[in-house]
Amino acid sequence: MERTILIMKAAAATVAVLLAVAVLAAEAAAPHHQYPRGVTSTYRRKLEASEDMPLDADVFAVPPGRNAPQQVHITLGDQAGTAMTVSWVTMEAEGNSTVLYGRAAGRLDLAAEGTTTRYTFYNYTSGFIHHCTLTGLDHATRYYYAVGHGDTVRTFWFTTPPRPGPDAPLRLGLIGDLGQTADSNATLAHYEQHPGAAVLFVGDLSYADKHPFHDSRRWDTWGRFSERSVAYQPWIWTAGNHEVEYAPELGETTAFKPFAHRYPTPYRASGSSEPYWYSVKLGPAHIIVLSSYSAFGKYTPQFKWLEAELARVDRELTPWLFISTHVPWYNSNNFHFMEGEPMRVQFEKMAVDARVDAVFAGHVHAYERSHRFSNIQYNITDGRCTPVADRRAPVYVVIGDGGNIEGLADELTWPQPAYSAFREYSFGHAVLDIKNRTHAYYAWYRNHDGNKVTADATWFTNRYHMPNHDDSSVSSKTTYYA
Ligand code: FE
Ligand code: ZN
Repeated sequence: MERTILIMKAAAATVAVLLAVAVLAAEAAAPHHQYPRGVTSTYRRKLEASEDMPLDADVFAVPPGRNAPQQVHITLGDQAGTAMTVSWVTMEAEGNSTVLYGRAAGRLDLAAEGTTTRYTFYNYTSGFIHHCTLTGLDHATRYYYAVGHGDTVRTFWFTTPPRPGPDAPLRLGLIGDLGQTADSNATLAHYEQHPGAAVLFVGDLSYADKHPFHDSRRWDTWGRFSERSVAYQPWIWTAGNHEVEYAPELGETTAFKPFAHRYPTPYRASGSSEPYWYSVKLGPAHIIVLSSYSAFGKYTPQFKWLEAELARVDRELTPWLFISTHVPWYNSNNFHFMEGEPMRVQFEKMAVDARVDAVFAGHVHAYERSHRFSNIQYNITDGRCTPVADRRAPVYVVIGDGGNIEGLADELTWPQPAYSAFREYSFGHAVLDIKNRTHAYYAWYRNHDGNKVTADATWFTNRYHMPNHDDSSVSSKTTYYA
């Protein structure tokens, strides 16, 4: 009897070992499975770029009243969603930097005091730019707030993000390279039809630098244009090349000057030393923002911060891990082709090892979504440098199609590379709907002759909880023209 049990135990152990070997073999084989061929959609709205809307366009209207606060916008004021930074500009006089706020529109019983700053850029002098951080807020709570006391008071509201935790649903907007053309206006209007709790903005805001002398009045118009969304929900800022504004020919040599004065980020809360790379947590998501235009080589502050930050991520608490950066690491458009290569080489292995769920980028004025691919085998002596299917890898999304003065990036590389799942050069935006710790529904909405059309939609499964799941096998829906 005892012997039989021993034999059975031995047999069970053998089966367990065989199973383990089989699982290991399957996992080893998994990175090299085949994805279906990618789709190049040929939908074209138009190819010519649009002009920026005129300075007197209604979306740029100055709010009525003496010294009325304008360009009101909010962003997260700490890492975990219990603070909100409110920013606005007054033009005629400094006014004050006080925000009154509370849980009911008629009862703003709390007050916070902010600061004022100004800047000059060549021949432009900014208005009074106010920043005020409201702290100690409750999660997932509606707050009303008012700015402009003493002159013209304007009232807005926002809802704080859910407490960091694995199963709070979260809807996140994804917008990039927005600018201020009629196309930009359509993109924002389409997003507003079904907005999320926050927008992850992947860089290139106003394109003020496309105007003579980097006309900073175009930062003011952009602030007034975007207020209708950004005053009511936090936008998470990523710095793009149009934010750099390094212009020695104008005597302006401080990088990011207008952007940094106008759009603060909660970088200190995540231990960062610069406003351009930082992290925030919203409900089930841990979002890491990187700067394509700050040093990221080994030993640099950004590199060391990212290394430490990835080690701090708690996937039990925040199962979804995303990176936002302006220049894409995977891009098969001829525009800005290979520009993301230095950062990809530097950070891709770290992202794969950390099982990042998705990397969002802009810069290329088109849309593209990748399969899960990696290219981390390469070293200078072995010559292995072909991206391979890899379920451990993030999905790469290029969402630089907000619709700006530069128009569309309309030249693709051929053949479509194996890593590219879907690509199309037209305008639009995307939304990521995190349902729970394992599943998120992702959809890209094309601006289809002025209408919002779902053009590329799929499910992402979580790389921490379902690390080896092939989410490309889950039915995705595309409406394309091929
Ligand atoms: Fe851009
Ligand atoms: Zn760009």
